[in-house]
Amino acid sequence: MASIDSMNALLVDELRDIYDAEKRLTKAIPKLSRKATNDDLRSALDQHLQETEGQVARLEEAFEHLGERAKGKPCAGMRGIIEEGDEHVGEDYEDDDLRDAVIIGSAQRVEHYEIAAYGTAIAHARLLEQEDVVRLLEESLEEEKAADRKLTEIAESVVNLEAADAGEEDDETLALAGAGAGQARRASASRQRATASASSRGRTGNSGGRNGGRSRSR
Ligand code: FE
Ligand code: ZN
Ligand code: FE
Repeated sequence: MASIDSMNALLVDELRDIYDAEKRLTKAIPKLSRKATNDDLRSALDQHLQETEGQVARLEEAFEHLGERAKGKPCAGMRGIIEEGDEHVGEDYEDDDLRDAVIIGSAQRVEHYEIAAYGTAIAHARLLEQEDVVRLLEESLEEEKAADRKLTEIAESVVNLEAADAGEEDDETLALAGAGAGQARRASASRQRATASASSRGRTGNSGGRNGGRSRSR
């Protein structure tokens, strides 16, 4: 294989890596969506699948601008993140909300990795004054950031409140797990809300195995 001998060749290599990552995600996101229970989470994943298909098309356009064939180069990082997500999501969870919290965490790891990859490629495209490529990559970067924010919102507003209901002793772990990187401060506030809401809500109806968790904490 030819060595990477210029910033231009480096950019092409980076785009091939991202192209491979995005294509993997068009297969991985539907799997996550099928395992998700929360409606908001499912529709966020489905919407991001559509966006991901658009991102693949944008990368093809970027290759065209650079006069290169659209071709992927195996992205070991994304392969690993997807594999790890599969593992975590495939564990046994007593409660669907717990699995949803894990799905959010896995999806946010994907988004953060993509955000880093696009950020680097944009900087390199800008150095090369490839403004069309910069614009295409920035559009995708904005979608990744929006997807990440949406997942944080879902984690804080829905999943964690319900997951916290599964057992008070796990509140802290759950709130932090679903909230994503950099959200620890807000997670702590949402944990307090979750606890307040869990104790003000009646436990009849779906409390089945959950009372066991509660009595263990006494
Ligand atoms: Fe993407
Ligand atoms: Zn990669
Ligand atoms: Fe994404």
